[in-house]
Amino acid sequence: MPWTPPKELPPADIQQVLQGQKALVTGASKGLGAAVAVGLAQAGADVLINYYSDEAGAREVAAEVERAGSKAVLFKADVAKEDQVQDMFETLDDKFGRIDICVPNSGIQLNAPSHEMTMKQWERVIGINLTGQFLCCRESIKRFLGQGINKDISYSAGKIICMSSVHDIIPWEGHVNYAAAKGGIMLMLKSLAQEYAHNKIRVNGLSPGAIRTPMNVEKLTSPEAFEDQLLRLIPYKRIGEPEDVARAAVWLASDASDYVNGSTIYVDGGMCLYPGFIGGG
Ligand code: NAD
Repeated sequence: MPWTPPKELPPADIQQVLQGQKALVTGASKGLGAAVAVGLAQAGADVLINYYSDEAGAREVAAEVERAGSKAVLFKADVAKEDQVQDMFETLDDKFGRIDICVPNSGIQLNAPSHEMTMKQWERVIGINLTGQFLCCRESIKRFLGQGINKDISYSAGKIICMSSVHDIIPWEGHVNYAAAKGGIMLMLKSLAQEYAHNKIRVNGLSPGAIRTPMNVEKLTSPEAFEDQLLRLIPYKRIGEPEDVARAAVWLASDASDYVNGSTIYVDGGMCLYPGFIGGG
């Protein structure tokens, strides 16, 4: 049995603040996308669960969404492909008739020293992590503009929550494609927020630090490795849980954050606080 860091997440009930709303989450068959899809459902939203290859995982997430009392629709699509994203939104139109919340979450890493990075590695990461998010934003915004505002559902015409990373501001050796995509997301979401604020469309971002998804936990082998490798970078001294990100997503999707637009929330236990300077540097 591999060692995993202890869970220290405080309990919290998700309130039913998204009743009657329709959401789409990409890359929702596992990890953060799955947690966000379930969190939105617990808050009352029906959810289209996009997946790329893991249909079994997507079905498990759909079952959790339904256990929360919401509707789930599954759709397989590669978010880097324009025609597949358009098909996904047309399915959403057919099944739900509207969209209130879009969470472009899909993201991959294809790491290499920069001088050895292939075009394939560069283009695939930019294609999924940046272009994929743009395509989902574009398709959502078209629909938000067409729908306008219905205050019985939300005071916004629509909400987008882009999944970014602390690496939209922290440089990352060996991951230049990933950091470039995440940095791109930061100004993409701010530009969209500026362009469509007068239409009452809100575009915000979530930048997680080290969250307990397989990507991070697989790198750890022991409590010592956890202390030495990960906690060294986290002033709050615990690994993040997918629920930490889901709770922030629910708040950004709800009218409780109505005046928040063009912002990125760092869900990172202080990872962006230059931990090397703790104690005076
Ligand atoms: P993950 O690997 O568990 O999930 C990534 C998801 O993206 C999967 O569901 C995968 O199927 C999907 N995906 C991959 N290629 C796709 C494609 N072409 N089309 C559609 N979907 C595709 O990773 P995760 O940790 O849950 O990461 C989710 C997001 O959060 C990513 O954007 C990642 O960059 C970001 N993030 C994660 C962490 C972390 O600590 N886990 C930290 C910062 C940012």
